[in-house]
Amino acid sequence: MPRKGRILVHTGDGKGKTTAALGTAFRAAGHGQNVAIVQFMKGKWTYGEIFAIQRFPNIYLARLGSGFTWLKEGLEEDRELAQSAWALCRELAHSREYDLLVMDELNYALDYGLVDVDEVVQFLHGKPEELSVIITGRRAKQELIDAADTVTEMRAVKHGFRAGLRAQKGIEY
Ligand code: ATP
Ligand code: MG
Repeated sequence: MPRKGRILVHTGDGKGKTTAALGTAFRAAGHGQNVAIVQFMKGKWTYGEIFAIQRFPNIYLARLGSGFTWLKEGLEEDRELAQSAWALCRELAHSREYDLLVMDELNYALDYGLVDVDEVVQFLHGKPEELSVIITGRRAKQELIDAADTVTEMRAVKHGFRAGLRAQKGIEY
């Protein structure tokens, strides 16, 4: 019987959503599974995972986000980028070449209305049976939570940022 893929959501304000998804990606890759990661956001830093992933021939990474929307004028440009990232996700899923698809910060694109949540729910219902999917980002929509098997909320009990600690290489990026 083919393995049934899982749908996971990592949400909440606490740290660990993207890194937990990457941890799972490395776990799957270690078993020889093929992983695709599509990042809907491109922050201001050069994230270490970009270099780490290059060491894994079975992890594919695409970064199509445009940065932080609230710092920019061009919401139309953001929408186009989010839509191309979303189209890429569907293409990768239906290529059937991957065991795991990570849609990093998709929740963010949904929250800003750059991608339609109904389309994502439909995609999750119609995805290849064996494909697992991880969606990350704050403020996960209830529709996604309903569609998922496993939902984890990271809660910020404390974060050094609030005490004035700056983002640190290897920890935050
Ligand atoms: P990480 O990538 O470290 O797993 P994340 O995916 O949970 O974090 P995001 O909401 O995507 O968090 O935040 C992007 C950046 O902000 C990351 O560098 C992250 O480490 C940092 N960050 C996450 N949570 C907080 C927080 N509560 N306060 C300040 N910075 C945070
Ligand atoms: Mg993140």
